[in-house]
Amino acid sequence: MKIIIIGAGPGGYETALLAAKRGVEVVLIESAHVGGICLNEGCIPTKTFCKNAEVLDSLREGETFGLTDLTYGFDFSKVIDRKNAVVEQLRGGVEGLLNNKLITLVRGKASFKDAHTVTVTPGATPVTMEKSVEYSADHIIIATGSVSSSLPIPGADLPGILTSREILDIEKVPSSLCVIGGGVIGLEFASIFSSFGCEVTVLEYCKDILPRFDTDLAKRLKQSLSKRGISIETQAQVTSITECDSNAYTVSYTRKGKEETVTAEKVLMAVGRRANVASLNLDDLGLEYTQRGIVTDERTMQTNIPHIYAVGDINGRMMLAHAATFQGIVALDHIMGVENQIDLSVMPAAVFTSPEAASVGLTEDECKERGIPVKCLKSFFRANGKAVTMGETDGFCKVVVAAEPKEGAQSPYQPGRVLGCHLYGPHSSDIVQEACAMISRKATLEEFQSVIHTHPTLTEVLQSAIHSV
Ligand SMILES: Cc1cc2nc3c(=O)[nH]c(=O)nc-3n(C[C@H](O)[C@H](O)[C@H](O)COP(=O)(O)OP(=O)(O)OC[C@H]3O[C@@H](n4cnc5c(N)ncnc54)[C@H](O)[C@@H]3O)c2cc1C
Repeated sequence: MKIIIIGAGPGGYETALLAAKRGVEVVLIESAHVGGICLNEGCIPTKTFCKNAEVLDSLREGETFGLTDLTYGFDFSKVIDRKNAVVEQLRGGVEGLLNNKLITLVRGKASFKDAHTVTVTPGATPVTMEKSVEYSADHIIIATGSVSSSLPIPGADLPGILTSREILDIEKVPSSLCVIGGGVIGLEFASIFSSFGCEVTVLEYCKDILPRFDTDLAKRLKQSLSKRGISIETQAQVTSITECDSNAYTVSYTRKGKEETVTAEKVLMAVGRRANVASLNLDDLGLEYTQRGIVTDERTMQTNIPHIYAVGDINGRMMLAHAATFQGIVALDHIMGVENQIDLSVMPAAVFTSPEAASVGLTEDECKERGIPVKCLKSFFRANGKAVTMGETDGFCKVVVAAEPKEGAQSPYQPGRVLGCHLYGPHSSDIVQEACAMISRKATLEEFQSVIHTHPTLTEVLQSAIHSV
């Protein structure tokens, strides 16, 4: 058996490695650096910035921890150097892993010639091929990821309007930043640049920030970020961007019928991402896709052409690195006829703001919309010993549990089954993992309650929530 994988991000390269481990021959095609958006322009570089932000925040609180006469400078070029070094180190690691006799890494841009054949043309960075080459295989997995979206408004294409790619390489911290979009990416950059000493305004079109998250959590996280000095305007419809002088932009928006403006040295467009279908020649192939991405079967990741699969951001299901990787496993297992227990509907997600937020499973709002009776159990970081010792007491943990339906009504879930966990506060992205493990095994509240937590740890916030019945 031979598989072609297009795109070497966390969807493509992890699948290639697993396939090779299972003895399958793989042609992996990549038009840029291996590691994809995640390693080169997404998860990894942003998290190196997050660490810089954390160090600065700790220094600002130095007096609380007994540091006196503290003076320090902030050399932003070192932040960029560190970020580049981390990315290069990890990229080198991936390149090393891909150096496998069953994997042929082809550096070029892939396009479908027919349903079993892909043409790869030169033009990739950093290494490229000299002329076009064709590859054929029994199965093809598309993992070409996504690209930043923009708004169809005047000024959106002005030179100097940043996307998440450019902001990672700016030369200095701007004095002010207007972030258009209060989703995960926008808020992470807002939090980071606020810690870097920049005056940040976030403009979000929806009623709340983080539209897909638990509204309770989104509201409180907004308060937390506002307390840190980040100005967040929700229900703000951005209408235009103009350059007011060579050093600033004016962003105009309407909010509750009123025209408003924000002036900032830099503007970050963070209004979501769209599937990267360009140049694959999908129309000639007859492969079905919508604005959201390539249409796939939710269990197998098969497209309408059964031997072609689409995993990761390209199918628009869940634009997260680990979602891409696990969809890749599911696709490979389907190709090879391997059974697995992966439940892609239990997908954890984290927001690396300060404080962090994280979520897995159903939210209270979703349950309400679907008529699922639930009860919610809550606990607060301010009552968690470890959080108090750390001086990071802002946040809560909320567990959604299936409840007994009213007489005559029905619920798809057994009463007592834990359906979701949503939290914000220190290390939420780590704590959510326990809930994820249990929820993916369909655990009940009683089973959750039987797990012993080390004391004193932040994970006890989950223990306190599930014992708060
Ligand atoms: C700023 C930012 C921060 C993020 N932070 C997180 C985070 O903390 N956690 C998280 O889970 N997710 C995060 N994400 C999302 C995450 O990066 C993506 O979900 C993930 O990279 C998707 O993986 P993928 O394999 O589907 O695609 P990608 O990582 O986008 O990889 C696709 C690859 O395909 C290549 N390619 C495209 N077209 C072709 C072609 N025609 N021929 C050959 N190669 C091609 C591209 O060059 C690219 O390398 C972040 C994203 C951004 C932008």
